[in-house]
Amino acid sequence: MSEQKTVTTADEEAESALATARAQLERAATHIDVDAGIVERLKHPTKVLRGSVPLERDDGTVEIFTGYRAQHDDVRGPYKGGLRYHPDVTEDECIGLAMWMTWKCAVMDLPFGGAKGGIVVDPKDLSAAEQERLTRRFAEEMRDFVGPTVDIPAPDMGTDAQTMAWFMDAYSMQEGETVPGVVTGKPPVIGGSYGRSEAPGRSVALVTRETADHYDLPLETATVAVQGFGSVGSEAARLLDEWGATVVAVSDVSGGIYDADGLDTHAIESHGERPEAVSPTEGTSQITNEELLELDVDVLIPAAVGNVLTNANADAVQADIIVEGANGPTTTEADRIFAERGVPVIPDIVANAGGVTVSYFEWLQDINRRQWSLERVHEELEAEMLSAWEDVRAEFTARDVTWREAAYIVALSRVAEAKSTRGLWP
Ligand code: GLU
Repeated sequence: MSEQKTVTTADEEAESALATARAQLERAATHIDVDAGIVERLKHPTKVLRGSVPLERDDGTVEIFTGYRAQHDDVRGPYKGGLRYHPDVTEDECIGLAMWMTWKCAVMDLPFGGAKGGIVVDPKDLSAAEQERLTRRFAEEMRDFVGPTVDIPAPDMGTDAQTMAWFMDAYSMQEGETVPGVVTGKPPVIGGSYGRSEAPGRSVALVTRETADHYDLPLETATVAVQGFGSVGSEAARLLDEWGATVVAVSDVSGGIYDADGLDTHAIESHGERPEAVSPTEGTSQITNEELLELDVDVLIPAAVGNVLTNANADAVQADIIVEGANGPTTTEADRIFAERGVPVIPDIVANAGGVTVSYFEWLQDINRRQWSLERVHEELEAEMLSAWEDVRAEFTARDVTWREAAYIVALSRVAEAKSTRGLWP
């Protein structure tokens, strides 16, 4: 990720997710009549767990890793959000990302609150057996904080369906019964939902299609650049390609490729299929991640890490529409520049919300012990995405606000109403 991070070095802001999230909350609160005490409460997480996670390495030595779980708010339902394994995980990042989960679940009208956690580790440095031991120990440390009606983790950066399987198994072994609903994003064979792993990318594609339609841009004539070819970026790029858009550039951590005539997105292996597989082939030219962000395209989809659109490059971005596939790719300052320039930015809390939405479907399937077909998941996901999109669009068209503000207005109104209805006790 070092290449992408250099984007922010000239910038004042390698801004923490928490700083961005708080600034966004304050801004949203100026547009609606919401009690100041409620806004103050929402600036802080309810609880943060910080723990040491000891791991016996394959060579017999013991190493201690730090794990976090930030629980932001549960007024609308159990805490919900991913667990990331990444060397840059910090407490503040977990809190900021947990806040975004609160808004993401609220804007989708899901009966969940927001949480996020992770371990400060580069999973690439661990063998599969070490990842398993680390995950099981972390699950054990978190036992009293999680549960299907309390806090429900899911995959995020550096974790996947297998990680969730280990977590669920460790939790269940100690409970004395199989508890599939303690995590979502599991493999379908143990209570996972079909379509869960593709869901965030699928929602990015659906939201891109609706945004293009809103701006009278036919998808068939649209050019698209996608930063990141992991589960979100690859799925979004391939679907948009299938729906007629011309995906001219994609990238991974090692750089990107460009073809003005359009790439064959299905021929490029995603990070999950083969890590760092994006490399030039005949007819494509090599570009850097920085160059990709500044391409003259109709739609730019940052779907890798956070803080890639900053005040150092926001003026140079030539895309007409930005759809956030990653969580927090745009800093506050970049957001201001895009608003000034009239470049619509469709926020992460709507665009990639397909992940947590299918997590909700998975949770329902686990409660009922009845699996849905992939077709049903796709149909219901599309219905949920279109309904959330219409709610946000209604605020966007009714007020002089950005898309992000419109999404926050929808989310904050729901959370604040639930909070004032339940009251503060004791
Ligand atoms: N980690 C994902 C996100 O950021 C999914 C969270 C979930 O499914 O709980 O939205």
